[in-house]
Amino acid sequence: MSSTTTLLDRNHRFASDFASPDLPILPKLRTVILTCGDARVDPAHIFGIELGDAVVIRNNGGRVTPAVVEEIAALSFIVAQMEGGEPGPFELVLMQHTQCGAERFADPNLQNALREATGVDVSSVAITDHEMSLREDVERLRNAPEVPGYIVVSGFIYDVQHGTVREIITPSALAPQ
Ligand SMILES: [Zn+2]
Repeated sequence: MSSTTTLLDRNHRFASDFASPDLPILPKLRTVILTCGDARVDPAHIFGIELGDAVVIRNNGGRVTPAVVEEIAALSFIVAQMEGGEPGPFELVLMQHTQCGAERFADPNLQNALREATGVDVSSVAITDHEMSLREDVERLRNAPEVPGYIVVSGFIYDVQHGTVREIITPSALAPQ
C-alpha cells in the first residue's frame, strides 16, 4: 500500500474543518525558516507555526547553499515589491539540529563514495560543528551580493531528544545600517 492512502486520508480530515480560505500570501511573521528536511524537525510543530505564518525552506542539514541564496534573493525581492518597494521587516531563521544526517557527510570516505556513485558533492553541506556551520552560513549570506543586507538573521540548534531550541546567533541584520 502506498503512503498516499494515509496522506489523502489525513487530508480529508484536514479539509473537513478547513477555515482559512483568505490568508494573505505574505507570511504573518514576515519570516523564512531554513532548516533540515529531517522528519523529526518540523517547524510547524517545534515553533507552533500555523498556516500563513512563515515560509519554510528545507534541505539536507538546513544549510545555506547557492540554491537557498537564490530563493532568499527572489523572496526578499517579491516581498519588497508587494510592500510597495520599501524593504519591509524580513527575518531569516537558520535552524540546525542534533543527530543530523549532514554530520555523516563530514566523513571523507562517505563523501568520496557518494561522489563516485552519484556525482554529488556534499562537502559544502557537511556539518562537523553546528555552531561553526551556523556562523559559516551567516557569512555565506553576508557575502552573497544578491541577498539584501537588511535581512535579520538568527541561528538555532534544535535538540531532537528534548524538543528544545537553543539560540546560537541572536537576530541581527546582515549589514547593519
Ligand atoms: Zn538533519
